[in-house]
Amino acid sequence: MQTTQEARMGDGVDARFNSTLREAFGSTPFILTKFDKFMNWVRGSSMFMLQFGIACCSIEMMHTYAIKHDLDRFGAGVPRASPRQADVIIVPGTIVSKFAPRMKRVYDQMPEPKFVVGMGSCTISGGPFQEGYNVIKGAEEVIPVDIHVPGCPPRPEALIYGIAKLQERIANGETSPVTVKPYELEQFGDLERDEIVDKLSEQIDEDQLVMRYNWADSP
Ligand code: SF4
Repeated sequence: MQTTQEARMGDGVDARFNSTLREAFGSTPFILTKFDKFMNWVRGSSMFMLQFGIACCSIEMMHTYAIKHDLDRFGAGVPRASPRQADVIIVPGTIVSKFAPRMKRVYDQMPEPKFVVGMGSCTISGGPFQEGYNVIKGAEEVIPVDIHVPGCPPRPEALIYGIAKLQERIANGETSPVTVKPYELEQFGDLERDEIVDKLSEQIDEDQLVMRYNWADSP
């Protein structure tokens, strides 16, 4: 009886399949891919998160790491205490002007390639504290953000969704930042859409809403 190896290397098989690799590996399965693609897949599948909490969103972030949601299922588990051992930072909360340079310093200490998940309204625009004299109007004023997860706070499921989205983007080698759309997160909510909020949000001019703040000038 013909073995699998013989069937794969037999006369009827296209010569291209009888390559040096096939001769070397025989019937042993192997995968051909590009090195960059393989590294991106590894990066996305094994994330080293930084242990980093700022404000109320951190509570939901901790919940995401804990047993009920168990972020480790997605290869993004135990947070690292040192930025030098981490490649992903979740920014979970309000950033104030005195803290911003420290956050930048922590980010700078992370090795490349590194990724940032902005968690909650505060990291997108300053959130409910946007008018505060010392509040930075979004993490992107300080460091580049790859994924924005809206909400105040976002539910753990939404954060997991954002991280899964980041993993997908890393695996595909995509680099431009994205905001996870509220409608994508709706599937995690048990609340009806709020019509008043919808109407008000249509009237908002984002250019007017987002105030720029130069934290470097801060005392
Ligand atoms: S987005 Fe809301 S829950 Fe998150 S840090 Fe800001 S105020 Fe707190």
